[in-house]
Amino acid sequence: MKIDGSCHCGFITYEAEIDPQKVGVCHCTDCQSLTGSAFTTSVSTDKEDFRLLSGQPKVYVKTAESGAKRAQGFCPQCGSRIYAAAEVDPQTFNLRVGTIRQRRELPPITQSWCRSALDWVMDLGSVPRNAQGRPK
Ligand SMILES: [Zn+2]
Ligand SMILES: [Zn+2]
Repeated sequence: MKIDGSCHCGFITYEAEIDPQKVGVCHCTDCQSLTGSAFTTSVSTDKEDFRLLSGQPKVYVKTAESGAKRAQGFCPQCGSRIYAAAEVDPQTFNLRVGTIRQRRELPPITQSWCRSALDWVMDLGSVPRNAQGRPK
């Protein structure tokens, strides 16, 4: 599936080819702090299927407890996370689904690191709903 996306401020834009069957949610504690939220939703794309159209992401390399390093690409102006990838010569990019324009068509297929998921996340459907919100 062909998709396109951008960060919140529009400095970074990209397009990619992805497989909707590869959309996943990650509940690991690194994703919680990196997103400032409860989890990451991402989908992988191969290097040759990913094209940056404008802007250059800033990269933060995180080191996991296991010692594994992951490059986190984000917009240097607005901070939106764009992808995670290998630190050196990445062959795949794990795009952050919230930056993809077609994100409504990309529900997650799998969830990982559920042992560190926040308890309320699995029961979010029962929380009272408003059609609109207050400014965040
Ligand atoms: Zn931006
Ligand atoms: Zn994670």
